[in-house]
Amino acid sequence: MTGRQGNGHRGRGGRGGGGRRPEPEPIRGVRDDARLSQELLKMDGASYGRYKSLQGDWDFGDFTLTVQRVQSDPFAPPSRIRIFRPDAGIPSSAYTDPVRRRATADFLGRLARRRLKGSLLRIDTGGQEVIARSSCQVGADGALDLRIGLELPGHGRRIDGRTAERELCRRVPELVDDLDWDEIDQKGAEAFADSVVDTVALRGALPEHGLVAFVADGAVLPRRSGVSDEPLRGEGVVPFVSPESLRVSVDLPHRGTVTGMGVPEGITLIVGGGFHGKSTLLHALERGVYDHVPEDGRELVVTREDAVKIRAEEGRGVERVDVGPFVRNLPTGADTSDFRTENASGSTSQAANICEAVEVGSRTLLVDEDSTATNLMIRDERMQALVHGDREPLVPFVDLVRPLHREHGVSTVLVMGGSGDYFDVADHVIMLDAYHPHDVTERARALARERTDAEFAMPKARVVDPRSVDARTDRGRAKLKRRDMDVLVFGQSDIDVRSVEQFVDPGQIIGAGLALRVLAQGGHLNGSRTLAEALDSLERALNERGVMLLGQEFGGDYALPRRHEIAAALNRLRALRVTEQR
Ligand code: ADP
Ligand code: MG
Repeated sequence: MTGRQGNGHRGRGGRGGGGRRPEPEPIRGVRDDARLSQELLKMDGASYGRYKSLQGDWDFGDFTLTVQRVQSDPFAPPSRIRIFRPDAGIPSSAYTDPVRRRATADFLGRLARRRLKGSLLRIDTGGQEVIARSSCQVGADGALDLRIGLELPGHGRRIDGRTAERELCRRVPELVDDLDWDEIDQKGAEAFADSVVDTVALRGALPEHGLVAFVADGAVLPRRSGVSDEPLRGEGVVPFVSPESLRVSVDLPHRGTVTGMGVPEGITLIVGGGFHGKSTLLHALERGVYDHVPEDGRELVVTREDAVKIRAEEGRGVERVDVGPFVRNLPTGADTSDFRTENASGSTSQAANICEAVEVGSRTLLVDEDSTATNLMIRDERMQALVHGDREPLVPFVDLVRPLHREHGVSTVLVMGGSGDYFDVADHVIMLDAYHPHDVTERARALARERTDAEFAMPKARVVDPRSVDARTDRGRAKLKRRDMDVLVFGQSDIDVRSVEQFVDPGQIIGAGLALRVLAQGGHLNGSRTLAEALDSLERALNERGVMLLGQEFGGDYALPRRHEIAAALNRLRALRVTEQR
């Protein structure tokens, strides 16, 4: 076929591409929409590689279309285009405030997705959460910036110029018009942003109320199914009603006063029979670190932004974590304040997860008995009688949860239906009864026993070797992608984030991979900063420069992860090397 013959023939142009066909020169001269249309129609029937000549900017008058990356064949991942419109009529009231700006961009992105149904153009949008993402952004100056995938059409290996012309020269301008502020549902956009602003204000009000979380009356917590994050609807849904003793009112900028259940700082236990809604409540709290779209049912369910879900994660690697508070003396004689393993047990993985979360600044832990290692949670008297203290390396969480709060300000919300041991240490006990929460603190206290706490010394901070965080393969090429839902391919390594439950958007996994690259290459991990300090530095840069800081050169979609998920990805990178503990 011509492709192969051409290859051999033009081999001199190889440029290290292993005999790859040289790329066609970009189209020169006037590059406006009329020219693009002409060129596409002219290309009809030409060999697919000619599409590459489209690369670069095209002037459409009030916006610029940039062909950023062209797929090499019709079956490769979609090509990438950018649409940049300096003035889309967005009023400054919708973009001056960074929270509103994120919400406005999210609203426009979702609108774009609906408008692009049935076209070859694809825009990445979020699920139930409103998270900053690369695909649709509004600038601090109100500019609209879209990054879209396009499956460039072909008849086999030949260019389908007519269809391409329709997509690029008609669909794209239509989309830009549809997103013009004068054309959109302005009331809807404002209400969407108002709701997000309220959520952020509510989360921001938690500390002054002494709370770690808030669940509004009327909230709908259950989801449609185990695989759908949309709200459960219909008669079976029991909307949330706060118990009187924990009821709190908060004034919000747009919605006015809302009431609901405040989860106080300290240790809160969620109990109740099986299937009474405990895990559903905890899941809502896990996701309460993010803002939700209006109508989600959880748009007024918020958790402190530093809340981290803790679970056991057998088999994960651990790199020089100080798990000393939980693990005293291992049968191997290993130093548990400098603990390294390729294959952690249920209990040591959970201990590492807690110590790592606290290390980078989490002061709110969320724990569900469904996903914990029992031997790290409790130890009853009969077991203590049989296995003596000096034979048991583990200090159970129940003995550490109070000093964690008293001495280090780390609160815990814990679901526990199977054991009463935590009655001894809980500040508040909430019982779910057929999805209705009741404050049973007094009753639980009557059943509590004396308990002697263990000591919790703050885990040592780690300094990471930036050279161990490398997204390149052995051939020197950057490799960063997501595989099988929850595996981040990062250079030579596969990072398994299946157990990192607060990755709530597939784009965040890519975002975390990009963040690792920026951490290592952007001077944040500089060989002397601790991991927490490096994350502070990255966060400052992100606040200044926005989400594109992570992927200016990256040809794909991604969303912004929190520092806790970035750290979680780093901690699961098996190539990670720690040079020092402080
Ligand atoms: P638990 O952890 O107490 O065993 P789950 O939280 O797993 O219980 O909930 C059990 C079932 O009840 C799930 O199918 C969940 O979707 C449903 N559910 C939870 N809360 C509600 C609610 N408020 N209204 C209706 N169904 C609910
Ligand atoms: Mg459960």
